[in-house]
Amino acid sequence: MSAYKIHIKGLVQGVGFRPFVYRLARQNDLKGWVVNRNDGVVIKLMTGEQEVSDFAGQIRRYAPAASRIRLIDWQMSEEEELDGFHIITSRNASQDATDISPDIAVCPHCLEDMRRQPHRINYPFVNCTHCGPRFSIIKGLPYDRARTTMSDFTMCSICHEEYHDVNDRRFHAQPVACNHCGPHYEYYQQGRVMHDINRVLTQVTHGLGKGWIIAVKGIGGFHLMCDASNEKAVARLRRIKRRETRPFACMFSDLETLRQYAHVNQLEEQHLTGWRRPIVLLEQKQALAPSLNLQVNTIGAMLPYMPLHELIFAGLNLPALVMTSANLSNEPLIADNQTAHHKLSRQADALLLHNRAIANRVDDSVVRIIDGQIQPLRRSRGYVPEPLPLNFTVNGILATGAELKNCFCIGKGDQAIMSQHIGDLKNYETYDFYTHAVDRLLSLFRVTPHCVVSDLHPDYFSTRYARNYAKQKTRMGEAGDNHQVQHIQVQHHHAHIASCMAEHHLRETVIGVALDGTGFGPDGHIWGGEFLTANLTSFHRYTHLTYVPMPGGDKAVHQPWRMALSYLYQSFGPEFSSLPLDMLSHHSREDLRLMSSMIRKRINSPLTSSTGRVFDAVSALLNVCTHNRFEGEAAMRLEALVDPHTEGHYSFGQTPEGIDLTPAFREMVTELLNGHESSLIATRFHHTIARIITSVAEKIRQEAGYNKVVLSGGTFQNKYLSETTAQWLRNHQFEVYAHRRVPANDGGIALGQMVVAANK
Ligand code: ZN
Ligand code: ZN
Ligand code: FE
Repeated sequence: MSAYKIHIKGLVQGVGFRPFVYRLARQNDLKGWVVNRNDGVVIKLMTGEQEVSDFAGQIRRYAPAASRIRLIDWQMSEEEELDGFHIITSRNASQDATDISPDIAVCPHCLEDMRRQPHRINYPFVNCTHCGPRFSIIKGLPYDRARTTMSDFTMCSICHEEYHDVNDRRFHAQPVACNHCGPHYEYYQQGRVMHDINRVLTQVTHGLGKGWIIAVKGIGGFHLMCDASNEKAVARLRRIKRRETRPFACMFSDLETLRQYAHVNQLEEQHLTGWRRPIVLLEQKQALAPSLNLQVNTIGAMLPYMPLHELIFAGLNLPALVMTSANLSNEPLIADNQTAHHKLSRQADALLLHNRAIANRVDDSVVRIIDGQIQPLRRSRGYVPEPLPLNFTVNGILATGAELKNCFCIGKGDQAIMSQHIGDLKNYETYDFYTHAVDRLLSLFRVTPHCVVSDLHPDYFSTRYARNYAKQKTRMGEAGDNHQVQHIQVQHHHAHIASCMAEHHLRETVIGVALDGTGFGPDGHIWGGEFLTANLTSFHRYTHLTYVPMPGGDKAVHQPWRMALSYLYQSFGPEFSSLPLDMLSHHSREDLRLMSSMIRKRINSPLTSSTGRVFDAVSALLNVCTHNRFEGEAAMRLEALVDPHTEGHYSFGQTPEGIDLTPAFREMVTELLNGHESSLIATRFHHTIARIITSVAEKIRQEAGYNKVVLSGGTFQNKYLSETTAQWLRNHQFEVYAHRRVPANDGGIALGQMVVAANK
């Protein structure tokens, strides 16, 4: 007889890991114990080496769905006198924190309990070791009830018993609760308050059926919900949110119903029904309310993930509910009852609150299946704070991210921990949320930054935050020692490419194609159509889309017609104004002359190589979208026009000044004037961008021999462009890398900033 200790690192707490180990040990008739520590789970087994190795294999094979084993190793240990196998009380071994579980969608067993267990009939907070809230309720580590927002609730005797029974599914389920002892919902409507869950559900489903808008508190914040097939309700919701056209995501009652409204392939189904339960962007089959998702052919769909959602749909005869975060555009998600009362009670027809506090706000995540793989568009609930493993240390680095769609990132050992989606830092409340979220994540993971990284843009709020952070923390010199915090800046598109490289563990020099809307260039111009050769320390700008003026500066971002004029001017000179184009008919001769001279003299017209602005220009040229009412609208609507059966592309030039698109614009105008369909032109334009990418990649390979192409930047959220580009590159024997774990948009930037800083 000998003894071994097995150490398991990864996401192994709050996911039912110890009971799983316990049952496995009992099945194998092994003696020993299992314990939770800060740095993972430790198992002691009184048996021989072969048995230990087999046991480790079984752990890997049968581990709970929401767990993630990063490392499992074992070594000889001293023998102990033991009878049977035990779970022993947690103890803290080191400063090394283990992973924190993301929030997990309600499991089928709990839904069953909600119908069968007397103390949990219709209990909207039912959970177990396999499911329920995690990150959203955690205030500190190690993960136990006292350090969550469940600490306000004392377990009743039944819950207490379940919690301590190793054979129960709720053994050490920290948020365990029932109708007697746990959190509960309160319903507010016109001064009336209601507590009884059955009466509340009747009111809610009745109201939704009549077209009401109800504010409801969920896992990570408040939602506004209404009948997704009721046009009047959806239109009113748009007025409340001050959101003109940006599509709303919907929650469908079940998968079968969803299939009537959208195409769902196997991979999409897997993500829709998995424990993370994100919003999945799908191709629409049949429309719900018309103004739900105007002029796009996609719908953001998710399935119920809270017990409450299931209860609501059970009493409702509707296919889907709009579920949109309860906040005004650009403000962060509302997460506390007081703010909800204050901001929502006059807007919504009713408020459905609960009395469990939200420790960490998390929005619904959004993913899209692109090129046969998942690509996150917004990484939040269900994903955060799962770390991304790297093969070098990033310890003590804080990366502050970009400005729009901000996420930040902290480094712990050789893991990058990305924050939840924060949003647009220009908004005061969002910035406030940002600073609190940084503090929270640093303290949860016990990280004291020695290095803070930001974008190169001098005026981003995240850059200023980094600058101040470095200054303040350096001056304080904690405990008398000379604590230095360094501030490093990383160019935006280099960070995009590096973030994708980090996901794929690439360190060698690659061909980096970074296409997006905007990023600060060291030459003082606005970059966004960038072809780089890059590794994790430096980059070289091989070429880029030729600079064009952005007439009116920022105005041109909101008014794509300005970019169309700029490209028309580049392609035809001032004579463009006499072209018989529909889009020009909206403007007087005088206006066009003024715009021409503005462009020619470059008055208030910064130069840009942005790909986003080219999509804007084409969308406006086709008269598809001349005004962006939300970020990326013109590009999204252009993508929606694509007809995959169309062939052909337009010409472009490769000059020392960059990739010249004026030939393409001349050909597009000719086709437009010859009466060609918008969809044909939109498709050929997509092909043109894909052609440019393959052609530049070929040139770089000929000159420098690199064969790996890394695609990043918000433009690659475009499914058709991404898939076409990847396919064509592979046809040319390139190895293609796209985002799979963090967004291609600016939500992924912080990871790139971090790895570049670590390698500098
Ligand atoms: Zn469960
Ligand atoms: Zn209870
Ligand atoms: Fe970007």
